[in-house]
Amino acid sequence: MNKKVKVGFFSLASCEGCYVDILNLDDKLLDILKYVEIVESRIFGIPKRSEELDVAFIEGAITCEEEIERAKEIRKRSKIVVALGDCACSGGKFMFKNFGFTGAKINQPPGKENFITEPIDKYIKVDYYLPGCPAKREEFVELVYSLLANRRFAEKPHSVCSECILYENDCLLEKGIPCLGPITQGGCGALCPTNGRGCFGCRGLYEDANIDGLIEAFKKHNIPIPDYLYELKKKLVEAAKHE
Ligand code: SF4
Ligand code: SF4
Ligand code: SF4
Repeated sequence: MNKKVKVGFFSLASCEGCYVDILNLDDKLLDILKYVEIVESRIFGIPKRSEELDVAFIEGAITCEEEIERAKEIRKRSKIVVALGDCACSGGKFMFKNFGFTGAKINQPPGKENFITEPIDKYIKVDYYLPGCPAKREEFVELVYSLLANRRFAEKPHSVCSECILYENDCLLEKGIPCLGPITQGGCGALCPTNGRGCFGCRGLYEDANIDGLIEAFKKHNIPIPDYLYELKKKLVEAAKHE
């Protein structure tokens, strides 16, 4: 390939942790830069140029009107848009704002206190999703090389639980430890359960998530059921009605 692929890295409401993790790729990132030109990125120190892009990576959720406009402007000039990380894919930690987490509301600019957090695909078309908090850097590499080779990047069609079972981990639910693995999209190699910590769902909802099944499992093991599971169930039922 002679011509380098033009890429931009953008941040909306985020901690920029996904980009920091990509910077940790070191040599692998230098290999990628043989084929890719970063034409716009605050974190890489490349100022705004408003050029047409082959690929735009967008990190962060949408939390205000300016971010909606920014996302739309990036979409307009990009052939491919990738949602990078949990915040961009699902709203991430900023979703606390939607559940009355007042600490986050205090920092909102006047007049925007009630603006809720949304994932970017609420406002623009997204071509690929790289979930996780942070997005998994190996998947970032896999996606970039898939795009360079004109191959479709395959998102992971299984839950965290499937990977956990594959590693023959003891199930944390049986020890009374809450774990969202059964309803969370896999691909992280069941990182948290493998290290003795319950999955908190950073890769977003698994396509075939069975919320009722998880609620029953929590009940069976005397694990308090968090309200958000009922909220989630309500939302999924509502969404199914509109399909
Ligand atoms: S997904 Fe996690 S690491 Fe990435 S921007 Fe959001 S909070 Fe930061
Ligand atoms: S520990 Fe969590 S991810 Fe692992 S099998 Fe149990 S519920 Fe599934
Ligand atoms: S186990 Fe769950 S919380 Fe941990 S990295 Fe995987 S998806 Fe994220």
